[in-house]
Amino acid sequence: NSGLMQGKRGLVMGVANNRSIAWGIAKALADAGAEVGLTYQGDALKKRVEPLAEQLNGQVFGHCDVTDDSTMDAVFEAVTEKWGKIDFFVHAIAFADKDELTGRYVDTTADNFARSMHISVYSLTALTQRAEKLMTDGGSILTLTYYGAEKVMPHYNVMGVAKAALEASVRYLAEDLGKDNIRVNAISAGPIKTLAASGIGDFRYILKWNELNSPMRRVVTIDQVGQSALYLLSDMGAGVTGEVHHVDSGYHAVGMKAVDAPDI
Ligand code: NAD
Repeated sequence: NSGLMQGKRGLVMGVANNRSIAWGIAKALADAGAEVGLTYQGDALKKRVEPLAEQLNGQVFGHCDVTDDSTMDAVFEAVTEKWGKIDFFVHAIAFADKDELTGRYVDTTADNFARSMHISVYSLTALTQRAEKLMTDGGSILTLTYYGAEKVMPHYNVMGVAKAALEASVRYLAEDLGKDNIRVNAISAGPIKTLAASGIGDFRYILKWNELNSPMRRVVTIDQVGQSALYLLSDMGAGVTGEVHHVDSGYHAVGMKAVDAPDI
């Protein structure tokens, strides 16, 4: 326990199971002394999230589906009642129809486009509206993005467009909330085998490619993302806002296949 987050409380949204990036972040926060609150999306995930929250001596603030305003309101009402204020908020939520995470981007339907943008982009703003009210002593907000926002990645399609909009949202939210000492940042994580990632076509190939071609010649773990999140969510990151920070073994820095990478 580093004590870095001692006395701080906040919400981490997006834990589905113990492979979720949000779980890596929640563990790092709790290890550093934070009181962590989790939510779950639907009853199927409730039974996974409750024991995880227990492991952290954390709270569960109930069901939250970002397409249903009343569930977001209910969570923040519960947090207000229990804690009165929060210091951090983590948004690790994204969704796109699996059928469109393969093939061509150009074939994206209007329905899937709108739904993906609503869940993966607007939800950060909707939840920030609610979190802002509870960050009366300032705070730090963090979301998760991917390099597919910056460059074309196979099969990422509508999610790439959504992540580009999410990264722009981070900058606009940072400007709006900076005066109240609330920071808003994103971590651009390298590929990690999670439930959401399993919906992406050829994901195993993408993982292998990153392992063979990133400067560190390995993929990142949810614990590594958690450690970097700790920096941005704690006072160590007090001077940082509107930032997209890559935690990807350096993959974003290279422009070509590594000379020692075998063909896969
Ligand atoms: P995950 O499946 O563990 O988490 C995704 C979460 O989104 C789940 O907890 C799910 O319940 C939640 N969610 C989806 N729709 C929702 C809705 N309507 N309301 C509320 N919650 C909803 O997968 P993950 O990979 O840990 O994803 C977390 C974040 O990290 C996502 O934003 C994802 O795009 C991002 N990310 C993932 C990778 C990767 O390779 N896994 C890389 C970079 C960024």
